[in-house]
Amino acid sequence: MGVVNTWHTQGDSRVCSGCAALEWEERAIGQAFVLGVYGPPLHDGCRCYMTQEYTGGGEIEVVDVAGEVERVLARLGTRDILEAGRG
Ligand SMILES: [Zn+2]
Repeated sequence: MGVVNTWHTQGDSRVCSGCAALEWEERAIGQAFVLGVYGPPLHDGCRCYMTQEYTGGGEIEVVDVAGEVERVLARLGTRDILEAGRG
């Protein structure tokens, strides 16, 4: 239970091999994808994006992150998950 970040590339021929390797990779909040990178951009010109999914029940996809996730977690009474992730 928690919030999972998922990496997405644009899926076209311009996606570099580094980003392609991260496509659909999932990480818990506060966990790096690679080499200390917690989300796009991986490099200059990177067009990747990330979605967040609450895995504790139901499925939500949040395009624009922090505020929305905080609201959802606050409503669900699981706010301390986020706080713990930041510590
Ligand atoms: Zn990229």
